[in-house]
Amino acid sequence: MKKLLMAALISAAAAASAADHGLLDAARGQQEPLLATLKDLVLMESGSSDTAGVTRVADYSEKRLKALGAAVERRDNILTGRFTGKGRKRIMLIAHMDTVYQPGILASQPYRVDGNRVYGPGIADDKSGVALILHTVEMLHARGWRDYAQLTVIFNPDEEIGSRVSGEWIATQGAQHDFVFSCEPNGAQLEGILMSASGIATANMTVQGRASHAGVSAKTGRNALVELSHQIMQTKDIEVPGAQLNWTRANAGLVTNQIPASATALGDVRLSAADGLTRLQQALRDKVATPLVPDTVTTIDIEPGRPPFIASEAARAWAAKAQAIYGEIDRKLALYPGTGGGTDAGYAGRSGKAIVLEAFGLAGDGVHAKDEYITIDSVAPRLYLLSRMMQEAGASQ
Ligand SMILES: [Zn+2]
Repeated sequence: MKKLLMAALISAAAAASAADHGLLDAARGQQEPLLATLKDLVLMESGSSDTAGVTRVADYSEKRLKALGAAVERRDNILTGRFTGKGRKRIMLIAHMDTVYQPGILASQPYRVDGNRVYGPGIADDKSGVALILHTVEMLHARGWRDYAQLTVIFNPDEEIGSRVSGEWIATQGAQHDFVFSCEPNGAQLEGILMSASGIATANMTVQGRASHAGVSAKTGRNALVELSHQIMQTKDIEVPGAQLNWTRANAGLVTNQIPASATALGDVRLSAADGLTRLQQALRDKVATPLVPDTVTTIDIEPGRPPFIASEAARAWAAKAQAIYGEIDRKLALYPGTGGGTDAGYAGRSGKAIVLEAFGLAGDGVHAKDEYITIDSVAPRLYLLSRMMQEAGASQ
């Protein structure tokens, strides 16, 4: 009895770690086509503010999504491709089409292959994500996999400038899905799943005082600049869990012979918790309630930008599943604790409804730098990983 149980346990463990060889072969077969797509994408420059360039990449990607059978909606160069399947789950894949580079970058940083590396501006961040999604969907559909109620693909054009146009759309769509797999690039040395990324916001402090002649009637004025200085000193070291504030810009006064009636300061806010912004806002309002200059009024507003991304408990369990899947093909996947850079996974997970995981793009390095590259030998493993995650998501309860 005991022996039988042991045998059962061993075969269960063996089954859990066995690779899907058919899928792995298919992934290997997609390697060259994916690299060809990636080359096409890199040869179209698409810096975030290069509208013509981003439009070219959007045209190309739209055509490719349609060729895969997606119903495509396009607004402000945000592409949303939808596939209807036969399953129960709603799965969303996201990647961005824009890069940080200025027009003409290909002249100094051309597309080139060197051994296991392929170089080019934006090749990892995030053209690898776009190519990976296109070829993962192609591969799974070719294998007859349709185990989803809906599969949605979003390619956005403004990630590198904060997703100011696409962010709300990604948040709204994210709330309507069970799973979101975001395909930002991965590390070349150590591949991993990202557990958190900071959010960003802008703090705005305004002081209203009263103007008067600086020489004749200074005492009747209410100096907004002096009050602003006081409020900055009062708030500069403010500490709340999940939020960090640094005052970075200020403005006051019009002319030197007038007591300034108003003053403003702007601050950079970084968020590491979903409720960090609300807590910071409350803490700031409590502080500024004590003025130095009587009769002045100080107001604080915080304008939210990209929300922080924090992997939920459920997402952590799925990260462990991703590690196990990578183990099937003898690859290791780390759990990255966090990054100072933002991600659209923050928007996708804002509602808290979907299970959101980040960093399914190809392995590479040098992003936002001079020698950005991806590694060729990561292509088939990354195709395999994303495909298996989608299959597991589709089959989940
Ligand atoms: Zn990116």
